Amino acid sequence: MHDKIGGYLENVTTAVIAGHTRPDGDCAGSTLALYNYLRDNYPQVHVDLYLEPVAEVYKVIKNADQIISDYDRDETYDVFFALDSSDKERLAGAVKYFDTAKRTVCIDHHISNEGYADENIVFPKASSTCEVLATLMDMDTVDVDVAEALYIGIICDTGCFKHSNTSEQTMNITGKLISKGIRFSKLTDEVFYQKTYMQNQLLGRCLLESFLVFSGKCIVSVADRKVMDFYEAQSSDLEGVIDQMRITKGVEVAVLLTEIGDRKYKVSMRSNEFVDVAKIAGIYGGGGHIRAAGCTMSGTKYDVINNLTMFIEEQLIQND
Ligand code: AMP
Ligand code: MN
Ligand code: MN
Repeated sequence: MHDKIGGYLENVTTAVIAGHTRPDGDCAGSTLALYNYLRDNYPQVHVDLYLEPVAEVYKVIKNADQIISDYDRDETYDVFFALDSSDKERLAGAVKYFDTAKRTVCIDHHISNEGYADENIVFPKASSTCEVLATLMDMDTVDVDVAEALYIGIICDTGCFKHSNTSEQTMNITGKLISKGIRFSKLTDEVFYQKTYMQNQLLGRCLLESFLVFSGKCIVSVADRKVMDFYEAQSSDLEGVIDQMRITKGVEVAVLLTEIGDRKYKVSMRSNEFVDVAKIAGIYGGGGHIRAAGCTMSGTKYDVINNLTMFIEEQLIQND
Protein backbone atom coordinates (compact mmCIF):
# COMPACT_ATOMS: atom_id res chain seq x y z
CA MET A 1 0.00 0.00 0.00
CA HIS A 2 1.39 3.39 -0.98
CA ASP A 3 1.00 6.25 1.45
CA LYS A 4 0.34 8.80 -1.30
CA ILE A 5 -1.78 8.83 -4.45
CA GLY A 6 1.34 9.37 -6.58
CA GLY A 7 2.44 5.82 -5.78
CA TYR A 8 -0.47 4.45 -7.79
CA LEU A 9 0.34 6.53 -10.86
CA GLU A 10 3.73 5.15 -11.85
CA ASN A 11 3.71 4.07 -15.53
CA VAL A 12 0.05 5.05 -15.74
CA THR A 13 -1.26 6.93 -18.78
CA THR A 14 -5.01 6.41 -18.31
CA ALA A 15 -7.00 6.52 -15.08
CA VAL A 16 -10.67 6.22 -14.24
CA ILE A 17 -12.45 7.47 -11.14
CA ALA A 18 -15.91 6.29 -10.04
CA GLY A 19 -18.13 6.46 -6.96
CA HIS A 20 -21.30 4.83 -5.73
CA THR A 21 -24.79 4.90 -7.21
CA ARG A 22 -27.00 7.85 -6.15
CA PRO A 23 -23.95 9.94 -5.25
CA ASP A 24 -24.06 11.90 -2.00
CA GLY A 25 -21.81 14.82 -0.98
CA ASP A 26 -18.87 12.64 0.08
CA CYS A 27 -19.06 10.70 -3.16
CA ALA A 28 -19.34 13.78 -5.40
CA GLY A 29 -16.73 15.63 -3.32
CA SER A 30 -14.14 12.84 -3.22
CA THR A 31 -14.40 11.85 -6.89
CA LEU A 32 -14.16 15.46 -8.07
CA ALA A 33 -11.37 16.25 -5.59
CA LEU A 34 -9.32 13.36 -6.95
CA TYR A 35 -10.20 14.25 -10.57
CA ASN A 36 -9.06 17.85 -10.12
CA TYR A 37 -5.97 16.84 -8.13
CA LEU A 38 -4.83 14.43 -10.85
CA ARG A 39 -5.46 16.99 -13.59
CA ASP A 40 -3.45 19.61 -11.68
CA ASN A 41 -0.55 17.43 -10.64
CA TYR A 42 -0.36 14.62 -13.20
CA PRO A 43 -1.15 16.29 -16.56
CA GLN A 44 0.42 13.36 -18.44
CA VAL A 45 -2.37 11.05 -17.19
CA HIS A 46 -5.70 11.03 -19.05
CA VAL A 47 -8.48 10.88 -16.42
CA ASP A 48 -12.17 10.06 -16.86
CA LEU A 49 -14.72 10.44 -14.07
CA TYR A 50 -17.83 8.23 -14.21
CA LEU A 51 -20.68 9.00 -11.85
CA GLU A 52 -24.45 9.00 -11.94
CA PRO A 53 -25.81 12.56 -12.20
CA VAL A 54 -25.08 14.58 -9.06
CA ALA A 55 -27.59 16.79 -7.22
CA GLU A 56 -27.65 20.47 -8.22
CA VAL A 57 -25.91 21.64 -5.01
CA TYR A 58 -22.72 19.69 -5.78
CA LYS A 59 -22.34 21.41 -9.14
CA VAL A 60 -20.51 24.26 -7.37
CA ILE A 61 -17.48 21.95 -7.40
CA LYS A 62 -15.01 22.67 -10.21
CA ASN A 63 -15.33 20.37 -13.24
CA ALA A 64 -18.67 18.86 -12.13
CA ASP A 65 -19.62 19.36 -15.80
CA GLN A 66 -16.88 16.89 -16.80
CA ILE A 67 -18.64 13.95 -15.10
CA ILE A 68 -19.57 11.20 -17.53
CA SER A 69 -22.92 9.64 -16.62
CA ASP A 70 -23.29 7.06 -19.38
CA TYR A 71 -21.24 3.93 -19.57
CA ASP A 72 -21.16 3.44 -23.34
CA ARG A 73 -17.41 3.73 -23.97
CA ASP A 74 -15.30 0.66 -24.47
CA GLU A 75 -12.16 1.91 -22.76
CA THR A 76 -9.63 -0.08 -20.77
CA TYR A 77 -7.79 1.93 -18.16
CA ASP A 78 -4.42 1.46 -16.44
CA VAL A 79 -5.85 2.24 -13.03
CA PHE A 80 -9.35 2.40 -11.55
CA PHE A 81 -10.01 4.47 -8.41
CA ALA A 82 -13.21 3.43 -6.59
CA LEU A 83 -14.26 6.06 -4.06
CA ASP A 84 -16.77 5.93 -1.17
CA SER A 85 -18.15 2.64 -2.47
CA SER A 86 -18.43 -0.13 0.10
CA ASP A 87 -18.80 -2.91 -2.45
CA LYS A 88 -18.20 -3.45 -6.15
CA GLU A 89 -21.89 -3.57 -7.08
CA ARG A 90 -22.40 -0.04 -5.69
CA LEU A 91 -20.21 1.19 -8.57
CA ALA A 92 -23.23 0.44 -10.81
CA GLY A 93 -22.46 1.11 -14.50
CA ALA A 94 -18.74 1.67 -13.86
CA VAL A 95 -18.24 -1.99 -12.87
CA LYS A 96 -17.32 -2.82 -16.48
CA TYR A 97 -14.30 -0.49 -16.29
CA PHE A 98 -13.39 -1.93 -12.90
CA ASP A 99 -13.41 -5.44 -14.33
CA THR A 100 -11.11 -4.56 -17.25
CA ALA A 101 -8.72 -2.13 -15.50
CA LYS A 102 -5.10 -3.28 -15.11
CA ARG A 103 -5.10 -2.28 -11.44
CA THR A 104 -7.88 -1.29 -9.05
CA VAL A 105 -7.61 0.92 -5.99
CA CYS A 106 -10.41 1.45 -3.48
CA ILE A 107 -10.41 4.47 -1.16
CA ASP A 108 -13.18 4.30 1.42
CA HIS A 109 -14.34 4.55 5.04
CA HIS A 110 -17.19 2.01 5.28
CA ILE A 111 -16.90 -0.59 8.03
CA SER A 112 -18.78 -3.00 5.74
CA ASN A 113 -16.09 -2.75 3.02
CA GLU A 114 -14.49 -6.19 2.64
CA GLY A 115 -11.74 -5.10 0.25
CA TYR A 116 -12.86 -5.86 -3.30
CA ALA A 117 -10.04 -4.07 -5.15
CA ASP A 118 -6.37 -4.96 -5.70
CA GLU A 119 -5.42 -2.24 -3.23
CA ASN A 120 -7.81 -1.21 -0.46
CA ILE A 121 -7.23 1.96 1.51
CA VAL A 122 -10.17 1.67 3.90
CA PHE A 123 -10.26 3.50 7.23
CA PRO A 124 -13.59 2.89 9.03
CA LYS A 125 -12.65 5.44 11.69
CA ALA A 126 -12.36 8.24 9.14
CA SER A 127 -15.39 10.52 8.92
CA SER A 128 -15.54 10.41 5.15
CA THR A 129 -13.79 9.25 2.02
CA CYS A 130 -12.72 12.88 1.57
CA GLU A 131 -10.84 12.66 4.89
CA VAL A 132 -9.04 9.47 3.77
CA LEU A 133 -8.27 11.02 0.39
CA ALA A 134 -6.85 14.17 1.97
CA THR A 135 -4.28 12.07 3.86
CA LEU A 136 -3.17 10.57 0.52
CA MET A 137 -2.62 13.97 -1.09
CA ASP A 138 0.39 16.21 -0.83
CA MET A 139 -1.20 19.24 0.89
CA ASP A 140 1.30 21.61 -0.75
CA THR A 141 -0.16 20.82 -4.15
CA VAL A 142 -3.84 20.94 -3.10
CA ASP A 143 -5.39 24.08 -4.55
CA VAL A 144 -8.54 25.88 -3.41
CA ASP A 145 -10.82 23.93 -5.79
CA VAL A 146 -9.62 20.54 -4.55
CA ALA A 147 -9.86 21.84 -0.97
CA GLU A 148 -13.47 22.95 -1.49
CA ALA A 149 -14.43 19.55 -2.93
CA LEU A 150 -12.88 17.80 0.09
CA TYR A 151 -14.59 20.19 2.51
CA ILE A 152 -17.99 19.48 0.96
CA GLY A 153 -17.54 15.73 1.41
CA ILE A 154 -16.47 16.16 5.03
CA ILE A 155 -19.39 18.40 6.03
CA CYS A 156 -21.91 16.13 4.30
CA ASP A 157 -20.75 12.92 6.04
CA THR A 158 -20.22 14.53 9.46
CA GLY A 159 -23.46 16.54 9.38
CA CYS A 160 -21.28 19.66 9.72
CA PHE A 161 -18.97 18.17 12.35
CA LYS A 162 -21.75 16.99 14.67
CA HIS A 163 -21.83 13.23 14.07
CA SER A 164 -19.75 10.87 16.22
CA ASN A 165 -17.45 10.16 13.25
CA THR A 166 -15.88 13.63 13.66
CA SER A 167 -12.37 13.32 15.11
CA GLU A 168 -9.25 15.34 15.81
CA GLN A 169 -7.96 14.28 12.40
CA THR A 170 -11.18 15.52 10.76
CA MET A 171 -10.67 18.93 12.34
CA ASN A 172 -6.93 19.07 11.58
CA ILE A 173 -7.55 18.30 7.93
CA THR A 174 -10.41 20.79 7.79
CA GLY A 175 -8.08 23.41 9.29
CA LYS A 176 -5.62 22.80 6.46
CA LEU A 177 -8.43 23.12 3.90
CA ILE A 178 -9.52 26.42 5.45
CA SER A 179 -5.94 27.68 5.16
CA LYS A 180 -6.29 27.24 1.38
CA GLY A 181 -8.88 30.02 1.35
CA ILE A 182 -12.03 27.95 0.80
CA ARG A 183 -15.41 29.71 1.07
CA PHE A 184 -16.42 27.60 4.05
CA SER A 185 -19.33 29.73 5.32
CA LYS A 186 -20.90 30.03 1.90
CA LEU A 187 -20.39 26.33 1.13
CA THR A 188 -21.78 25.25 4.50
CA ASP A 189 -24.94 27.29 3.91
CA GLU A 190 -25.44 26.50 0.25
CA VAL A 191 -24.44 22.86 0.19
CA PHE A 192 -25.51 21.65 3.61
CA TYR A 193 -28.27 23.84 5.03
CA GLN A 194 -30.06 25.42 2.08
CA LYS A 195 -33.21 23.66 0.88
CA THR A 196 -35.40 24.40 -2.08
CA TYR A 197 -39.04 25.12 -1.34
CA MET A 198 -39.93 21.66 -2.66
CA GLN A 199 -37.33 19.97 -0.42
CA ASN A 200 -38.77 21.77 2.61
CA GLN A 201 -42.28 20.68 1.66
CA LEU A 202 -41.06 17.10 1.36
CA LEU A 203 -39.34 17.32 4.75
CA GLY A 204 -42.60 18.52 6.28
CA ARG A 205 -44.54 15.77 4.58
CA CYS A 206 -42.19 13.02 5.78
CA LEU A 207 -42.28 14.33 9.37
CA LEU A 208 -46.06 14.68 9.27
CA GLU A 209 -46.52 11.11 8.08
CA SER A 210 -43.88 9.58 10.34
CA PHE A 211 -44.88 7.28 13.19
CA LEU A 212 -43.29 6.04 16.39
CA VAL A 213 -42.88 2.41 17.43
CA PHE A 214 -41.34 0.63 20.43
CA SER A 215 -42.48 3.26 22.94
CA GLY A 216 -41.05 6.08 20.87
CA LYS A 217 -37.57 4.56 20.52
CA CYS A 218 -37.92 4.12 16.77
CA ILE A 219 -39.31 6.55 14.20
CA VAL A 220 -40.33 5.45 10.71
CA SER A 221 -41.43 7.34 7.61
CA VAL A 222 -42.06 6.43 3.99
CA ALA A 223 -41.68 8.62 0.92
CA ASP A 224 -43.69 6.60 -1.56
CA ARG A 225 -43.92 6.99 -5.33
CA LYS A 226 -47.09 9.07 -5.08
CA VAL A 227 -45.41 11.64 -2.87
CA MET A 228 -42.15 11.67 -4.83
CA ASP A 229 -43.99 12.08 -8.13
CA PHE A 230 -46.23 14.81 -6.74
CA TYR A 231 -43.18 16.91 -5.77
CA GLU A 232 -41.20 15.76 -8.84
CA ALA A 233 -38.53 14.75 -6.34
CA GLN A 234 -35.51 12.47 -6.46
CA SER A 235 -34.12 10.57 -3.50
CA SER A 236 -31.36 13.21 -3.14
CA ASP A 237 -34.10 15.75 -2.36
CA LEU A 238 -34.62 13.86 0.92
CA GLU A 239 -31.10 14.59 2.16
CA GLY A 240 -31.38 15.73 5.80
CA VAL A 241 -34.86 14.33 6.42
CA ILE A 242 -33.56 11.35 8.34
CA ASP A 243 -31.34 13.60 10.47
CA GLN A 244 -34.38 15.58 11.56
CA MET A 245 -36.16 12.31 12.41
CA ARG A 246 -33.14 11.07 14.39
CA ILE A 247 -33.08 14.07 16.74
CA THR A 248 -36.67 13.48 17.86
CA LYS A 249 -36.53 13.32 21.66
CA GLY A 250 -36.47 9.74 22.94
CA VAL A 251 -35.63 8.19 19.57
CA GLU A 252 -32.77 5.70 19.23
CA VAL A 253 -33.34 4.61 15.63
CA ALA A 254 -34.73 6.45 12.60
CA VAL A 255 -35.81 4.65 9.43
CA LEU A 256 -36.73 6.34 6.16
CA LEU A 257 -37.95 4.41 3.13
CA THR A 258 -37.93 5.95 -0.32
CA GLU A 259 -39.78 4.08 -3.05
CA ILE A 260 -37.37 3.94 -5.98
CA GLY A 261 -39.20 1.39 -8.13
CA ASP A 262 -42.25 -0.80 -8.08
CA ARG A 263 -42.23 -2.28 -4.58
CA LYS A 264 -38.56 -1.41 -4.28
CA TYR A 265 -37.33 0.79 -1.44
CA LYS A 266 -34.13 2.62 -0.66
CA VAL A 267 -33.72 2.24 3.10
CA SER A 268 -31.88 4.81 5.23
CA MET A 269 -31.19 4.14 8.90
CA ARG A 270 -29.62 6.21 11.67
CA SER A 271 -29.07 5.49 15.35
CA ASN A 272 -28.04 7.62 18.30
CA GLU A 273 -26.30 5.55 20.93
CA PHE A 274 -26.26 1.78 20.73
CA VAL A 275 -28.10 0.19 17.81
CA ASP A 276 -25.73 -1.04 15.11
CA VAL A 277 -27.62 -0.15 11.93
CA ALA A 278 -24.79 -1.33 9.63
CA LYS A 279 -25.45 -4.85 10.96
CA ILE A 280 -29.14 -4.64 10.04
CA ALA A 281 -28.41 -3.14 6.60
CA GLY A 282 -25.89 -5.95 6.06
CA ILE A 283 -28.60 -8.60 6.52
CA TYR A 284 -30.32 -7.15 3.44
CA GLY A 285 -27.19 -6.79 1.32
CA GLY A 286 -26.51 -3.17 2.21
CA GLY A 287 -23.94 -1.60 4.46
CA GLY A 288 -22.58 1.62 5.86
CA HIS A 289 -21.51 2.66 9.32
CA ILE A 290 -22.56 1.73 12.85
CA ARG A 291 -24.71 4.91 13.22
CA ALA A 292 -25.66 5.46 9.54
CA ALA A 293 -26.41 2.72 7.08
CA GLY A 294 -28.65 1.75 4.22
CA CYS A 295 -29.80 -0.97 1.88
CA THR A 296 -32.30 -1.61 -0.90
CA MET A 297 -35.28 -3.86 -0.16
CA SER A 298 -38.16 -5.31 -2.18
CA GLY A 299 -41.74 -5.96 -1.15
CA THR A 300 -44.60 -3.84 0.11
CA LYS A 301 -43.74 -1.06 2.55
CA TYR A 302 -45.38 -3.14 5.30
CA ASP A 303 -43.10 -6.11 4.55
CA VAL A 304 -40.07 -3.87 4.57
CA ILE A 305 -41.01 -2.13 7.82
CA ASN A 306 -41.90 -5.42 9.53
CA ASN A 307 -38.61 -7.00 8.57
CA LEU A 308 -36.49 -4.06 9.64
CA THR A 309 -38.28 -3.38 12.91
CA MET A 310 -37.90 -7.03 13.90
CA PHE A 311 -34.10 -6.64 13.89
CA ILE A 312 -34.29 -3.19 15.46
CA GLU A 313 -36.43 -4.54 18.32
CA GLU A 314 -33.93 -7.34 18.88
CA GLN A 315 -31.19 -4.79 19.54
CA LEU A 316 -33.45 -2.48 21.57
CA ILE A 317 -34.39 -5.37 23.87
CA GLN A 318 -30.73 -6.37 24.34
CA ASN A 319 -30.06 -2.89 25.68
CA ASP A 320 -33.08 -2.71 27.98
P1 AMP B 1 -27.89 7.10 3.32
O1 AMP B 1 -28.93 6.71 4.29
O2 AMP B 1 -28.25 6.86 1.90
O3 AMP B 1 -27.36 8.48 3.57
O4 AMP B 1 -26.67 6.12 3.58
C1 AMP B 1 -26.06 5.99 4.84
C2 AMP B 1 -24.81 5.16 4.74
O5 AMP B 1 -25.14 3.83 4.36
C3 AMP B 1 -23.83 5.66 3.69
O6 AMP B 1 -22.55 5.55 4.22
C4 AMP B 1 -24.02 4.74 2.54
O7 AMP B 1 -22.83 4.55 1.85
C5 AMP B 1 -24.50 3.45 3.17
N1 AMP B 1 -25.48 2.81 2.28
C6 AMP B 1 -26.69 3.31 1.91
N2 AMP B 1 -27.32 2.46 1.07
C7 AMP B 1 -26.50 1.41 0.89
C8 AMP B 1 -26.55 0.20 0.11
N3 AMP B 1 -27.61 -0.11 -0.65
N4 AMP B 1 -25.49 -0.64 0.17
C9 AMP B 1 -24.41 -0.35 0.92
N5 AMP B 1 -24.29 0.76 1.66
C10 AMP B 1 -25.31 1.63 1.67
MN1 MN C 1 -21.51 8.11 0.26
MN1 MN D 1 -18.86 8.58 2.72
